Amino acid sequence: MNLKDYIANVPDYPIPGIQFKDITPLIGDGKAFKHATDLFVEYTKEINADIIVGPDARGFIFGCPVATQLEIGFVPVRKPNKLPREVIESTYDLEYGTNTLCLHKGDIKPGQKVLIIDDLLATGGTIEATIDLVEKSGGIVVGIAFLIELEFLKGRDKLQAYNVLSLIRF
Ligand code: AMP
Repeated sequence: MNLKDYIANVPDYPIPGIQFKDITPLIGDGKAFKHATDLFVEYTKEINADIIVGPDARGFIFGCPVATQLEIGFVPVRKPNKLPREVIESTYDLEYGTNTLCLHKGDIKPGQKVLIIDDLLATGGTIEATIDLVEKSGGIVVGIAFLIELEFLKGRDKLQAYNVLSLIRF
């Protein structure tokens, strides 16, 4: 099965010049979604992660089925004002302005082996902020997995110190 066949390309969305990679055909197909999940599960076993962290919101879609299949925990990284308890924050630069991501204090225990799963690696800002939150909590990032990597944006250059898997590359 070629997972690339299940990604729809939407030109000029959400703004002119962006080729948006729409994952909804993939998750809408039970066999394709299962196949992607199985590949993530295999990787999680290989790197021996003991918890999954996923950024808001598409990281939840791919992180949760992997966590349940392996009977390990899932920890959400969320946009501001979504998590009800005390949080730690990480802010990163966008082309215009900044973005902030939050993690509940204490959700990651010192020494825990963390796999971060997200839908897509573009510039790498989201994932850098997520790594920062995990590491500030004392977690060890043993792997980072994406469904899609946009290679031309060179997000991987920011992740040279980490073990990175991407299932589909454009
Ligand atoms: P970045 O922080 O630049 O690596 O962007 C990460 C997030 O933005 C991904 O997790 C995607 O959800 C979203 N994103 C960025 N570029 C695209 C794109 N071309 N198509 C679909 N989603 C994208």
